Amino acid sequence: MEAAFVNGRVLLDSGFSEDCAVLVRGEHISAIVAHDDPRVQACAHHHDLKGNILLPGFIDVQVNGGGGVLFNDAPTLDSIRRIGAAHRRFGTTGFLPTLVSDEIEVMRAAIGAVQAAIDAGVPGVLGIHLEGPYIAAAKRGAHDAARFRLPDAEEFELVCSLRGGRTVLTLAPEQAAPELVRAFRERGVIVSLGHSNASYEQARAALDAGASGFTHLYNAMSPLQGRAPGMVGAALEDAGSWVGIIVDGHHVHPASLRVARAAKPHGKLMLVTDAMPPVGADSGDFMLAGQRVITRNGRCENEQGSLAGSALDMAGALRNTIAWLDVPLAEAARMASTSPADFLDLSASRGRIAPGLVADLVELDADLQVRRAWTLGVAAA
Ligand code: ZN
Repeated sequence: MEAAFVNGRVLLDSGFSEDCAVLVRGEHISAIVAHDDPRVQACAHHHDLKGNILLPGFIDVQVNGGGGVLFNDAPTLDSIRRIGAAHRRFGTTGFLPTLVSDEIEVMRAAIGAVQAAIDAGVPGVLGIHLEGPYIAAAKRGAHDAARFRLPDAEEFELVCSLRGGRTVLTLAPEQAAPELVRAFRERGVIVSLGHSNASYEQARAALDAGASGFTHLYNAMSPLQGRAPGMVGAALEDAGSWVGIIVDGHHVHPASLRVARAAKPHGKLMLVTDAMPPVGADSGDFMLAGQRVITRNGRCENEQGSLAGSALDMAGALRNTIAWLDVPLAEAARMASTSPADFLDLSASRGRIAPGLVADLVELDADLQVRRAWTLGVAAA
Protein backbone atom coordinates (compact mmCIF):
# COMPACT_ATOMS: atom_id res chain seq x y z
CA MET A 1 0.00 0.00 0.00
CA GLU A 2 1.40 3.37 -0.99
CA ALA A 3 1.25 6.65 0.94
CA ALA A 4 1.83 10.15 -0.40
CA PHE A 5 3.31 13.06 1.56
CA VAL A 6 1.89 16.19 -0.05
CA ASN A 7 1.87 19.99 0.40
CA GLY A 8 5.26 20.12 2.11
CA ARG A 9 8.56 21.92 1.73
CA VAL A 10 10.64 18.83 1.07
CA LEU A 11 14.43 18.73 1.36
CA LEU A 12 15.68 16.83 -1.69
CA ASP A 13 19.26 16.40 -2.91
CA SER A 14 18.74 19.46 -5.09
CA GLY A 15 17.44 21.61 -2.24
CA PHE A 16 13.94 22.42 -1.02
CA SER A 17 11.02 21.61 -3.30
CA GLU A 18 7.51 22.93 -2.68
CA ASP A 19 5.73 21.22 -5.53
CA CYS A 20 6.66 17.57 -5.14
CA ALA A 21 5.06 14.61 -3.43
CA VAL A 22 7.00 11.88 -1.64
CA LEU A 23 5.59 8.42 -2.24
CA VAL A 24 6.25 5.71 0.33
CA ARG A 25 5.63 2.02 -0.17
CA GLY A 26 6.18 -0.11 2.91
CA GLU A 27 9.47 0.85 4.54
CA HIS A 28 10.93 2.73 1.58
CA ILE A 29 10.55 5.91 -0.43
CA SER A 30 9.30 4.63 -3.77
CA ALA A 31 9.30 7.85 -5.80
CA ILE A 32 9.49 11.63 -5.73
CA VAL A 33 6.93 13.01 -8.19
CA ALA A 34 5.26 16.27 -9.12
CA HIS A 35 2.34 17.16 -6.87
CA ASP A 36 -0.11 16.74 -9.76
CA ASP A 37 1.25 13.37 -10.87
CA PRO A 38 -1.58 10.82 -11.20
CA ARG A 39 0.30 8.44 -8.91
CA VAL A 40 -0.39 10.81 -6.01
CA GLN A 41 -4.13 10.44 -6.30
CA ALA A 42 -3.74 6.70 -6.69
CA CYS A 43 -2.16 6.41 -3.24
CA ALA A 44 -4.22 4.84 -0.50
CA HIS A 45 -3.07 7.33 2.17
CA HIS A 46 -2.30 11.02 1.99
CA HIS A 47 -0.30 12.90 4.63
CA ASP A 48 -1.11 16.57 4.18
CA LEU A 49 1.89 18.50 5.45
CA LYS A 50 0.00 21.81 5.22
CA GLY A 51 3.06 23.78 4.17
CA ASN A 52 5.30 22.30 6.87
CA ILE A 53 8.89 21.19 6.29
CA LEU A 54 9.81 17.56 5.55
CA LEU A 55 13.39 16.54 6.30
CA PRO A 56 15.21 13.23 6.37
CA GLY A 57 14.87 11.86 9.90
CA PHE A 58 17.66 12.86 12.26
CA ILE A 59 20.44 10.38 13.03
CA ASP A 60 22.18 10.72 16.38
CA VAL A 61 25.36 8.69 16.90
CA GLN A 62 25.69 9.58 20.59
CA VAL A 63 22.66 8.97 22.81
CA ASN A 64 23.38 8.03 26.42
CA GLY A 65 19.81 8.30 27.55
CA GLY A 66 16.40 9.88 27.33
CA GLY A 67 12.92 9.54 28.75
CA GLY A 68 14.40 9.36 32.25
CA VAL A 69 16.57 6.34 31.36
CA LEU A 70 20.38 6.10 31.33
CA PHE A 71 21.60 3.26 29.09
CA ASN A 72 24.50 2.44 31.47
CA ASP A 73 22.10 2.03 34.38
CA ALA A 74 19.87 -0.42 32.60
CA PRO A 75 21.36 -1.76 29.38
CA THR A 76 18.20 -3.58 28.35
CA LEU A 77 15.87 -3.86 25.40
CA ASP A 78 13.20 -1.93 27.32
CA SER A 79 15.62 0.95 27.97
CA ILE A 80 16.45 1.15 24.28
CA ARG A 81 12.75 1.31 23.41
CA ARG A 82 12.16 4.10 25.93
CA ILE A 83 15.22 6.11 24.90
CA GLY A 84 14.28 5.77 21.23
CA ALA A 85 10.69 6.86 21.87
CA ALA A 86 11.87 9.89 23.86
CA HIS A 87 14.13 11.06 21.05
CA ARG A 88 11.69 10.32 18.24
CA ARG A 89 9.51 13.13 19.62
CA PHE A 90 12.35 15.42 18.60
CA GLY A 91 12.76 13.97 15.12
CA THR A 92 15.46 11.35 15.72
CA THR A 93 14.62 8.32 13.60
CA GLY A 94 18.02 6.63 13.82
CA PHE A 95 20.35 6.44 16.81
CA LEU A 96 23.15 4.58 18.53
CA PRO A 97 22.49 3.81 22.20
CA THR A 98 25.74 4.95 23.80
CA LEU A 99 27.50 3.25 26.69
CA VAL A 100 30.10 5.24 28.60
CA SER A 101 33.12 3.39 30.05
CA ASP A 102 31.98 0.45 32.12
CA GLU A 103 32.86 -3.08 33.18
CA ILE A 104 32.93 -5.87 30.64
CA GLU A 105 29.73 -7.43 31.98
CA VAL A 106 27.86 -4.16 31.43
CA MET A 107 29.32 -3.94 27.93
CA ARG A 108 28.19 -7.49 27.27
CA ALA A 109 24.67 -6.68 28.46
CA ALA A 110 24.58 -3.50 26.38
CA ILE A 111 25.70 -5.18 23.18
CA GLY A 112 23.26 -8.01 23.85
CA ALA A 113 20.42 -5.54 24.36
CA VAL A 114 21.22 -3.69 21.13
CA GLN A 115 21.44 -7.01 19.30
CA ALA A 116 18.02 -7.93 20.67
CA ALA A 117 16.64 -4.53 19.63
CA ILE A 118 17.97 -4.92 16.09
CA ASP A 119 16.65 -8.47 15.85
CA ALA A 120 13.24 -7.34 17.17
CA GLY A 121 13.11 -4.38 14.77
CA VAL A 122 12.91 -1.71 17.48
CA PRO A 123 12.45 1.53 15.53
CA GLY A 124 15.57 3.56 14.89
CA VAL A 125 18.25 1.35 16.42
CA LEU A 126 21.21 1.47 14.05
CA GLY A 127 23.85 -0.08 16.32
CA ILE A 128 25.80 0.84 19.42
CA HIS A 129 28.35 3.46 20.42
CA LEU A 130 30.88 2.31 22.98
CA GLU A 131 32.39 5.51 24.37
CA GLY A 132 35.43 4.11 26.13
CA PRO A 133 36.75 2.37 28.13
CA TYR A 134 39.99 2.58 26.09
CA ILE A 135 40.34 6.29 26.80
CA ALA A 136 42.62 8.57 28.79
CA ALA A 137 42.31 9.57 32.44
CA ALA A 138 43.69 13.03 31.61
CA LYS A 139 40.53 13.71 29.60
CA ARG A 140 38.08 11.56 31.49
CA GLY A 141 35.25 14.10 31.56
CA ALA A 142 32.45 12.45 33.54
CA HIS A 143 33.73 8.90 32.93
CA ASP A 144 34.98 6.76 35.82
CA ALA A 145 38.75 6.42 35.26
CA ALA A 146 38.79 3.24 37.36
CA ARG A 147 37.13 1.54 34.39
CA PHE A 148 39.79 2.53 31.86
CA ARG A 149 41.84 -0.34 30.44
CA LEU A 150 42.79 -2.06 27.21
CA PRO A 151 40.87 -5.04 25.85
CA ASP A 152 42.09 -8.60 26.20
CA ALA A 153 41.26 -11.08 23.44
CA GLU A 154 37.83 -11.88 24.91
CA GLU A 155 36.86 -8.25 25.21
CA PHE A 156 38.14 -7.48 21.71
CA GLU A 157 35.83 -10.16 20.32
CA LEU A 158 32.94 -8.81 22.38
CA VAL A 159 33.40 -5.29 20.96
CA CYS A 160 33.36 -6.73 17.43
CA SER A 161 30.35 -8.97 18.03
CA LEU A 162 27.28 -6.93 17.02
CA ARG A 163 25.57 -8.22 13.89
CA GLY A 164 23.23 -6.30 11.60
CA GLY A 165 24.13 -2.89 13.00
CA ARG A 166 27.03 -0.52 13.32
CA THR A 167 29.50 -0.37 16.20
CA VAL A 168 31.21 2.95 16.89
CA LEU A 169 34.07 2.80 19.39
CA THR A 170 35.49 5.96 20.93
CA LEU A 171 39.09 5.45 21.99
CA ALA A 172 42.16 7.50 22.86
CA PRO A 173 45.12 6.83 20.55
CA GLU A 174 47.69 7.32 23.31
CA GLN A 175 46.05 4.32 25.02
CA ALA A 176 45.13 2.22 22.01
CA ALA A 177 48.04 1.81 19.58
CA PRO A 178 47.55 2.07 15.80
CA GLU A 179 47.71 -1.73 15.55
CA LEU A 180 44.63 -2.00 17.76
CA VAL A 181 42.81 0.69 15.76
CA ARG A 182 43.63 -1.24 12.59
CA ALA A 183 42.47 -4.52 14.12
CA PHE A 184 39.10 -3.01 15.12
CA ARG A 185 38.72 -1.42 11.72
CA GLU A 186 39.40 -4.71 9.96
CA ARG A 187 36.54 -6.22 11.96
CA GLY A 188 34.14 -3.51 10.84
CA VAL A 189 34.22 -1.37 13.98
CA ILE A 190 34.03 2.38 13.26
CA VAL A 191 36.76 4.03 15.35
CA SER A 192 36.21 7.56 16.63
CA LEU A 193 38.90 9.42 18.58
CA GLY A 194 38.10 11.20 21.81
CA HIS A 195 38.53 11.55 25.58
CA SER A 196 42.18 11.89 24.71
CA ASN A 197 45.23 13.98 25.42
CA ALA A 198 46.97 12.65 22.30
CA SER A 199 49.56 14.61 20.41
CA TYR A 200 48.82 15.62 16.86
CA GLU A 201 51.15 12.85 15.71
CA GLN A 202 49.36 10.19 17.76
CA ALA A 203 45.99 11.30 16.43
CA ARG A 204 47.37 11.35 12.91
CA ALA A 205 48.71 7.80 13.29
CA ALA A 206 45.27 6.61 14.42
CA LEU A 207 43.66 8.21 11.37
CA ASP A 208 46.22 6.50 9.15
CA ALA A 209 45.32 3.21 10.87
CA GLY A 210 41.64 3.62 9.98
CA ALA A 211 39.99 5.88 12.56
CA SER A 212 37.32 7.91 10.78
CA GLY A 213 35.73 10.14 13.39
CA PHE A 214 36.20 12.45 16.37
CA THR A 215 33.89 12.28 19.35
CA HIS A 216 32.45 15.63 20.50
CA LEU A 217 35.09 17.82 18.86
CA TYR A 218 36.84 20.22 21.27
CA ASN A 219 35.40 18.54 24.38
CA ALA A 220 37.70 16.22 26.35
CA MET A 221 40.55 16.36 23.82
CA SER A 222 43.96 18.02 23.52
CA PRO A 223 43.48 21.54 22.14
CA LEU A 224 44.98 23.23 19.10
CA GLN A 225 48.05 25.31 20.00
CA GLY A 226 50.67 26.96 17.83
CA ARG A 227 53.44 24.40 18.28
CA ALA A 228 51.20 21.57 19.44
CA PRO A 229 48.21 21.05 17.12
CA GLY A 230 46.85 18.31 19.38
CA MET A 231 43.79 16.25 18.62
CA VAL A 232 41.73 19.29 17.72
CA GLY A 233 44.34 20.27 15.14
CA ALA A 234 44.37 16.76 13.68
CA ALA A 235 40.58 16.75 13.50
CA LEU A 236 40.28 20.13 11.83
CA GLU A 237 43.06 19.43 9.33
CA ASP A 238 41.98 15.96 8.24
CA ALA A 239 39.67 16.06 5.24
CA GLY A 240 38.40 12.50 5.38
CA SER A 241 37.05 12.19 8.92
CA TRP A 242 33.75 13.21 10.46
CA VAL A 243 33.50 15.25 13.66
CA GLY A 244 30.61 15.15 16.10
CA ILE A 245 29.66 18.48 17.63
CA ILE A 246 27.38 19.25 20.57
CA VAL A 247 25.57 22.49 19.75
CA ASP A 248 23.88 23.14 23.08
CA GLY A 249 25.56 26.42 24.03
CA HIS A 250 27.41 24.78 26.93
CA HIS A 251 29.94 22.42 25.31
CA VAL A 252 31.47 24.60 22.60
CA HIS A 253 31.63 28.33 21.94
CA PRO A 254 29.80 29.27 18.73
CA ALA A 255 32.99 30.80 17.31
CA SER A 256 34.80 27.48 17.73
CA LEU A 257 31.93 25.78 15.93
CA ARG A 258 32.23 28.25 13.07
CA VAL A 259 35.98 27.58 12.90
CA ALA A 260 35.25 23.87 12.59
CA ARG A 261 32.79 24.51 9.79
CA ALA A 262 35.32 26.64 7.95
CA ALA A 263 38.07 24.06 8.36
CA LYS A 264 36.27 20.82 7.55
CA PRO A 265 35.08 19.87 4.06
CA HIS A 266 31.36 20.07 3.45
CA GLY A 267 29.49 17.12 4.90
CA LYS A 268 31.98 16.25 7.63
CA LEU A 269 30.30 17.98 10.59
CA MET A 270 27.59 15.96 12.29
CA LEU A 271 25.30 17.04 15.07
CA VAL A 272 25.22 14.78 18.11
CA THR A 273 23.27 15.34 21.31
CA ASP A 274 25.32 13.31 23.84
CA ALA A 275 21.89 13.21 25.45
CA MET A 276 21.24 12.11 28.99
CA PRO A 277 18.05 10.94 30.77
CA PRO A 278 16.48 14.45 31.05
CA VAL A 279 15.73 14.59 27.31
CA GLY A 280 12.04 13.90 26.94
CA ALA A 281 11.57 13.47 30.70
CA ASP A 282 10.17 15.51 33.56
CA SER A 283 13.08 15.06 35.93
CA GLY A 284 16.48 16.62 35.30
CA ASP A 285 18.83 14.98 37.79
CA PHE A 286 20.42 11.54 37.52
CA MET A 287 23.41 9.44 38.59
CA LEU A 288 26.39 8.82 36.27
CA ALA A 289 29.51 6.81 37.15
CA GLY A 290 28.61 7.02 40.84
CA GLN A 291 28.10 10.77 40.88
CA ARG A 292 24.99 12.87 41.01
CA VAL A 293 24.48 14.96 37.89
CA ILE A 294 22.47 18.14 38.24
CA THR A 295 20.69 19.68 35.27
CA ARG A 296 20.27 23.45 35.40
CA ASN A 297 19.29 25.66 32.47
CA GLY A 298 20.00 22.86 30.04
CA ARG A 299 23.47 22.12 31.46
CA CYS A 300 24.26 18.68 32.94
CA GLU A 301 27.11 18.89 35.44
CA ASN A 302 28.56 16.40 37.93
CA GLU A 303 29.86 17.11 41.45
CA GLN A 304 33.27 18.12 40.08
CA GLY A 305 31.67 20.62 37.76
CA SER A 306 32.47 18.52 34.66
CA LEU A 307 29.93 18.51 31.89
CA ALA A 308 28.17 15.14 31.95
CA GLY A 309 26.48 14.84 28.59
CA SER A 310 23.66 17.15 27.67
CA ALA A 311 19.95 17.85 27.92
CA LEU A 312 19.91 18.57 24.20
CA ASP A 313 17.54 17.06 21.66
CA MET A 314 18.25 16.95 17.93
CA ALA A 315 15.60 19.47 16.94
CA GLY A 316 17.13 21.89 19.43
CA ALA A 317 20.58 21.17 18.01
CA LEU A 318 19.23 21.93 14.54
CA ARG A 319 17.78 25.28 15.64
CA ASN A 320 20.96 26.22 17.52
CA THR A 321 23.09 25.32 14.51
CA ILE A 322 21.12 27.64 12.23
CA ALA A 323 21.40 30.45 14.77
CA TRP A 324 25.00 30.07 15.91
CA LEU A 325 26.79 28.64 12.87
CA ASP A 326 24.84 30.94 10.58
CA VAL A 327 23.95 28.15 8.17
CA PRO A 328 20.74 27.64 6.17
CA LEU A 329 18.22 25.02 7.24
CA ALA A 330 19.23 22.68 4.41
CA GLU A 331 22.82 22.53 5.62
CA ALA A 332 21.86 22.12 9.27
CA ALA A 333 19.48 19.31 8.29
CA ARG A 334 22.26 17.52 6.44
CA MET A 335 24.46 17.84 9.53
CA ALA A 336 21.68 16.13 11.47
CA SER A 337 21.07 13.33 9.00
CA THR A 338 23.17 13.00 5.84
CA SER A 339 26.56 13.39 7.53
CA PRO A 340 25.94 10.87 10.32
CA ALA A 341 24.51 8.43 7.75
CA ASP A 342 27.70 8.80 5.73
CA PHE A 343 29.86 8.38 8.86
CA LEU A 344 28.03 5.13 9.63
CA ASP A 345 28.38 3.99 5.99
CA LEU A 346 24.59 3.94 5.71
CA SER A 347 24.27 6.48 2.91
CA ALA A 348 22.77 3.90 0.57
CA SER A 349 19.75 3.55 2.84
CA ARG A 350 19.51 6.63 5.06
CA GLY A 351 20.21 10.33 5.43
CA ARG A 352 18.36 11.78 2.44
CA ILE A 353 14.90 11.92 0.92
CA ALA A 354 15.35 10.01 -2.32
CA PRO A 355 13.84 6.98 -4.05
CA GLY A 356 15.05 3.67 -2.67
CA LEU A 357 16.03 5.00 0.73
CA VAL A 358 14.13 4.07 3.85
CA ALA A 359 11.18 6.29 4.75
CA ASP A 360 12.69 7.89 7.85
CA LEU A 361 11.15 11.35 7.82
CA VAL A 362 10.51 14.27 10.14
CA GLU A 363 7.94 17.04 9.75
CA LEU A 364 8.69 20.44 11.32
CA ASP A 365 6.60 23.58 11.47
CA ALA A 366 7.83 27.05 10.53
CA ASP A 367 9.37 27.45 14.02
CA LEU A 368 11.31 24.22 13.47
CA GLN A 369 9.36 22.39 16.13
CA VAL A 370 8.81 18.71 15.36
CA ARG A 371 5.23 17.84 14.47
CA ARG A 372 5.55 14.20 13.41
CA ALA A 373 8.24 11.65 12.66
CA TRP A 374 8.17 8.41 10.69
CA THR A 375 10.56 5.49 11.02
CA LEU A 376 10.53 3.00 8.15
CA GLY A 377 7.32 4.62 6.95
CA VAL A 378 5.56 4.18 10.30
CA ALA A 379 4.48 7.24 12.31
CA ALA A 380 5.81 7.51 15.85
CA ALA A 381 3.31 6.42 18.45
ZN1 ZN B 1 32.21 12.01 26.12
